[in-house]
Amino acid sequence: MKRSEYLKSFRLRIFLVIVIAVLFSATVMRGAAGANVKERMIEQRIMEMTEQIRITASRMKNYDYFHNTSSEAINAQLSLLSTVYEGRILVIDQGFRVITDTYDISLGKYMIGEEVIRCYSGESVTNYDQGSRYIEVAVPVTEKDVETGETVVAGVILASATTDAIFRTTDDISRRGWILEIMLVVVMIGLAMGVAVLMARPFERVTKAMGSVVSFEEDLPVVSDYKETQEIVDAFHKLRQRLKTLDESRQEFVSNVSHELKTPIASIKVLADSLNMQEDAPLEMYKDFMQDISAEVDRENEIITDLLELVRMDKGASGMHVENVKVNDLLAQITKRLGPLARKSEVDLILESRREVNADMDEVKMTQAITNIIENGIKYNKHPGWVRITLDADHQFMKLTISDSGTGIPEAELSHIFERFYRGDKSHSKEISGTGLGLAITRKTILLHRGSIDVSSTLGEGTTFTVKLPLSYIKEAG
Ligand code: ADP
Repeated sequence: MKRSEYLKSFRLRIFLVIVIAVLFSATVMRGAAGANVKERMIEQRIMEMTEQIRITASRMKNYDYFHNTSSEAINAQLSLLSTVYEGRILVIDQGFRVITDTYDISLGKYMIGEEVIRCYSGESVTNYDQGSRYIEVAVPVTEKDVETGETVVAGVILASATTDAIFRTTDDISRRGWILEIMLVVVMIGLAMGVAVLMARPFERVTKAMGSVVSFEEDLPVVSDYKETQEIVDAFHKLRQRLKTLDESRQEFVSNVSHELKTPIASIKVLADSLNMQEDAPLEMYKDFMQDISAEVDRENEIITDLLELVRMDKGASGMHVENVKVNDLLAQITKRLGPLARKSEVDLILESRREVNADMDEVKMTQAITNIIENGIKYNKHPGWVRITLDADHQFMKLTISDSGTGIPEAELSHIFERFYRGDKSHSKEISGTGLGLAITRKTILLHRGSIDVSSTLGEGTTFTVKLPLSYIKEAG
């Protein structure tokens, strides 16, 4: 399979869609969860630390720590907090001097940081430095002034702790998450492959079943799981029905052709054989039989010519030589040519042109199509009788009506007269020569010109054919 074809595979696409969906949601979920956990842990740590230091601050007040920094209870608590939070705790007095340092480094030194100054105005300060991963919490220690009774800030507890532990924890969680995720992705890929194969299976079944059908009678042995595959199967059955109809009409046509071609030959054979069998056939008999043989040869010729014409037209509009034709002149020519035949049959040909009409058409083909209709009007007529040809047009179509005073066509036959080889009531058809192909050729020609032909008839009174053709030729699409 070529690469582009492989990419068109339904199975591959389903697989890719599932995999992309899984990877996308996994990534989004991991990103969201990872970021949230870390932030929440740090927030919580800050809250905890502030809370603990506030408790310590309030105890300091009770123990009067700033006048007695050797308080065991407070110092033990401070060093405990320092250990628990992996950080350093400083206690700073009003003079910005460090009076306690859990690391014992800055004892006695001065510490005038921004947080400390802000703390002296009474507020707690918390700070998180993302770059160096440090949390800072500064809480004021208040006490009542003995003289004024006002609450004053006696000092500040300043705690700074690293967030390394939090990062270690979240990194660990994320590492485990990764492993879990990779395992999940592998499982999902396997599952996606399975689902894709399963989902594509009904289509494969339909394709396989279609490939194995060899005759028009066979039904697709497929139980369709999807609405879509059922639609494919239905469309296949419809197509098969159309092909079956087409095949039947082709077979009928072939058998009709063979039959029609054989009939004159069988007559010729009979005529020739009966002449051969006669020992001393008189010359008149020879002449008489030979005339019959010649008529049968003409008939055979006529059928073959019509057949060839039909076959040529089956190829479509490609063989059309369209040009702008003055239809009034064309009709005048046709009626002139059919004049002798009409006179012989005592049929009056009346041509009535309501206006001058110019239309695009294949002149040769259209002449034959119109001739066929008028000729039928003369052939299937009373004697005397008439055929009236009327030409009219609007801005888009030309309209040609050919009416006759003839025998008419029975209702049951009307729908068949345009079929190949169809000839009306056999008894009268035998007297009147014809191949049964004339109207089939006419209809085909008119359809190639994108026109229409209609017929109405009253038995014993006559028949009217109405032909409508667009004035401008519309080329076949594509
Ligand atoms: P053909 O004339 O060679 O038999 P057509 O295809 O021209 O074949 O016509 C088919 C049949 O339609 C004719 O056999 C005839 O029965 C009937 N038909 C056609 N035109 C007329 C008409 N104007 N009046 C009566 N019957 C007609």
